[in-house]
Amino acid sequence: MGGYLGRKIDLCISNRIFAQNRERLVEPFRHRGERGCWQTEFWGKWFLSAVAAGRYTGNPDQRQWLRASVREILATQTPDGYIGNYSADSHLKGWDIWGRKYTLLGLLAWYDMAGDAAALDGGRRLAGHLLTEVGPGKADIVRCGLYRGMAATSVLEPVVLLYRRTGDETYLRFAEYIVSRWSSRQGPQLIEKALDGTPVAERFPRPKKWFSWENGEKAYEMMSCYTGLLELYRETGRAAWMNAARRAHENILAAEINIVGSGSAEECWYGGTLRQTQPAHNTMETCVAVSWMEWNAHLLRLTGDPRFADEIEKTAYNALLGAMMPDGSTFAKYSALEGARTLGEAQCGMDLNCCVANGPRGVMLLPQVAVMMGAEGPAVNLYSEGVWNLQLASGTPCRIDVRTDYPLTGRIDLAVRTERPETFRLRLRIPAWSEETSLTVNGSKAGDVHPGAYATIDRHWKPGDRVRLQLDLRGRVLRAADATRQYAAVVRGPLVLARDLRLGQSGIDSVAGGFGDERKLVLLQDVPPPPGITMAFAADAGGIRLCDYASAGNSWDASSRYRVWMPLA
Ligand SMILES: [Zn+2]
Repeated sequence: MGGYLGRKIDLCISNRIFAQNRERLVEPFRHRGERGCWQTEFWGKWFLSAVAAGRYTGNPDQRQWLRASVREILATQTPDGYIGNYSADSHLKGWDIWGRKYTLLGLLAWYDMAGDAAALDGGRRLAGHLLTEVGPGKADIVRCGLYRGMAATSVLEPVVLLYRRTGDETYLRFAEYIVSRWSSRQGPQLIEKALDGTPVAERFPRPKKWFSWENGEKAYEMMSCYTGLLELYRETGRAAWMNAARRAHENILAAEINIVGSGSAEECWYGGTLRQTQPAHNTMETCVAVSWMEWNAHLLRLTGDPRFADEIEKTAYNALLGAMMPDGSTFAKYSALEGARTLGEAQCGMDLNCCVANGPRGVMLLPQVAVMMGAEGPAVNLYSEGVWNLQLASGTPCRIDVRTDYPLTGRIDLAVRTERPETFRLRLRIPAWSEETSLTVNGSKAGDVHPGAYATIDRHWKPGDRVRLQLDLRGRVLRAADATRQYAAVVRGPLVLARDLRLGQSGIDSVAGGFGDERKLVLLQDVPPPPGITMAFAADAGGIRLCDYASAGNSWDASSRYRVWMPLA
């Protein structure tokens, strides 16, 4: 991938993922005296992004790095199979199982990439050891750790992946045990409360202690459980599980996700969609944005509904890339819709935190969802400069070259090249916001174009066929309100725009004239962006200057204070 997204991906790979001190992440696993911290999640999270990066670049040196890191982590495995840093009398407490989950995910990702039997064997031994500690007649997994067992039970995802790779029914039974415990009196009720429509922010009483077992509204852990449930649904086809994951997703999309595609305050659901114009403490944990993107990617793959790709695009261009430092070297822990960007603290005596470890996983998800294959042919979900080499169901190689400067402009040119002429379906995501779209093949109008759906082109493709898509990047006005005021914000294609002090207008908190009527569109004129800002515009409404949200605030100090929602009157 090149262009806007490709550059961001490259920066993240070179300045964060492979700039990480590899040894530092393995070191904690050699000391088993921990009682409450979560430094054992860092290796797995980082390693998942590193595997995705290694696959993306195909760089043999990076591959060697990954192989060496797996050797280092496996060397810490104790004879009984445990990989972690908790003391023997603190096993299962705090973040112990959560850390094992990320280690297991990392080992399986490497096994998938390299076919390394030692990684699969290490993963089996890790899971086998966990099975000696939790399960029927042993510790109750929903009583382990924090958040009504959601952190511990999110180990569901790699347990199902392990079953898929080994066929060992022990893991499938363990996965079903985990889901059954969710429904127990002590459990997080992830299926029942999703199906009965209980808002995710109101599932349990407000906890006396926030970061504790009683808290059942922790956003990232909850989404991780639903992602695992979708993996189990793939194995069992049990409709209620798919329905629960979809209903919870619908509730979160309607009640929690804000204009830039993230949510949460103090890492928990809080009814954030309606409250997004008001300041709240520690909003939009980057881990929340990443797990939201991953959940949407699962639903996209399972349903083929491109509206899930709309969500991925919105979060990526705004919440995720806004949280990434311009050089890709690190990520914010929390972000806001107004204020100044700040970095989070180093956690657990390490030099990074949960979100620094997680942000790159969101970035590396982008090449995986940009162009996907379906039974009928390729589906283009994200529009980026780049080259995709695919294989059609018939086995014929197919190459798609995309030339575009999207999202600077809405014009996207695709050259479809198959080794020999062949009939297949090409699907192009038409974002829900693109009201006026044009689509041609070799200059003639093509496809059925509807916002929020795939345009499908069924065709006998010949080498050199050219597809041109023009998306609607007119500035659109969105509105929100709180108890005292109305607000407007401007979006342009996938980009949310913001005021920023560097755009030379001091009163960024003042009333935004020109948005007060019912207008839905705003004329945006390109203006030369000041240093550090990618895209800048002057709105015909009062001459207000705006920039892309990912650039807003990216000096990471008060000199670039920014604001998305502009007060009206
Ligand atoms: Zn985090």
